[in-house]
Amino acid sequence: MSRNLELFERAKKPIPGGVNSPVRAFGSVGGTPRFVKKANGPYFWDADDKRYIDYVGSWGPAIVGHAHPEVIRAVQQAAEGGLSFGAPTEAEVEIAETLCAMLPSLEQVRLVSSGTEATMSAIRLARGFTGRDTIVKFEGCYHGHSDSLLVKAGSGLLTFGAPSSGGVPADFTRHTLVLEYNNVAQLEETFARIGDTIACVIVEPFAGNMNLIRPSEAFVKALRELTHKSGTVLIYDEVMTGFRVGPRCAQGLHGVIPDLTTLGKVIGGGMPLAAFGGRRDIMECIAPLGNVYQAGTLSGNPVAVAAGLTTLRLIREPGFYDTLTARTRRLTDGLAALGRETGVALTADSVGGMFGLYFTGKVPTCYAEVTNSDREGFNRFFHAMLEEGVYFAPSAYEAGFVSIAHTDALIDETLAAARRALSGK
Ligand code: PMP
Repeated sequence: MSRNLELFERAKKPIPGGVNSPVRAFGSVGGTPRFVKKANGPYFWDADDKRYIDYVGSWGPAIVGHAHPEVIRAVQQAAEGGLSFGAPTEAEVEIAETLCAMLPSLEQVRLVSSGTEATMSAIRLARGFTGRDTIVKFEGCYHGHSDSLLVKAGSGLLTFGAPSSGGVPADFTRHTLVLEYNNVAQLEETFARIGDTIACVIVEPFAGNMNLIRPSEAFVKALRELTHKSGTVLIYDEVMTGFRVGPRCAQGLHGVIPDLTTLGKVIGGGMPLAAFGGRRDIMECIAPLGNVYQAGTLSGNPVAVAAGLTTLRLIREPGFYDTLTARTRRLTDGLAALGRETGVALTADSVGGMFGLYFTGKVPTCYAEVTNSDREGFNRFFHAMLEEGVYFAPSAYEAGFVSIAHTDALIDETLAAARRALSGK
């Protein structure tokens, strides 16, 4: 029996489903999850010592490759000085200054330990600042697992959402309106009718939790203009896109200054670190300055901050994003070409170091189009690539990630494997 299977069977006894986060269980693609023994650069090794080219990268954080020697050294040094203090440190000030310098929309920033905490706190803050309860999110966008965000669309335009998870009281989602991504008319109508009651709109500025979906220019513009006019806080949830799609995140590519931004993944370089920040007048509503409560025993953890600061330094090296973007494009252009060559309805798209693979004729623009793709086709491809030693996200609805350690030669190796997988050889 494979060691992965052995571990999976063993894991299922003490851990629900054998995993600590559901997508890891391979529920959508079937088969046995790969248990990771170690990772380095663009690779990880599973429990059977098989090596994979990794296009998940811990779901985004591993932008400089796994176990980058400088990140590891910084973590080791920080750990020697103590793991957690529950009191301020100079390194926290340095990372806050660094983030504010890298992202013009951040006047102030607060550190937390997960993306879920960042979005939950940003929403509470937007409500406290505006004195309004209603929030707007978009179908197919994921912003972590806090109660009021685990919601599916109601039956009509202004019908509030229903819980999409057990354990969430309908009362908790009563204030969440779920709209369609890229539907400008629906957004305009909503704001015309109830704009002055909406505390915030939270959006993934390139959606990465329903595969990769780009916003249209009109959608981006409408979001900023409508929220601005109605005194609604615009929250860019850049937990995934932050320093992943470019040096100024998605907002830099859009030319938009959101009121609040949430960050995670890349800024922690693989350690539990996330953040929310933005306009000073809004941020000053948080305790201890204001009456919006938010706190955390491990917030600004020194080991996580050390990994984050080093990662942020590495991504500022000249040419980093040009190289990362070009390599990711090489992968997606190559895969789209293979789709055409082999007659498989496969296409692909990328923004910076983030990409989407779609088993459908054209690049989708909303949740409904993504869910129309050929899931069986994706699953076959996923398993064939796994055999080849290439690890893509184990779900047709997730984005993929390239790191700076993925060389052109490695991308070409991936494409050669994909040609065999797609042509059934
Ligand atoms: N927002 C977005 C856009 C995300 O992609 C994620 C996680 N994939 C989260 C929030 C939640 O982050 P975490 O898993 O760190 O709680």
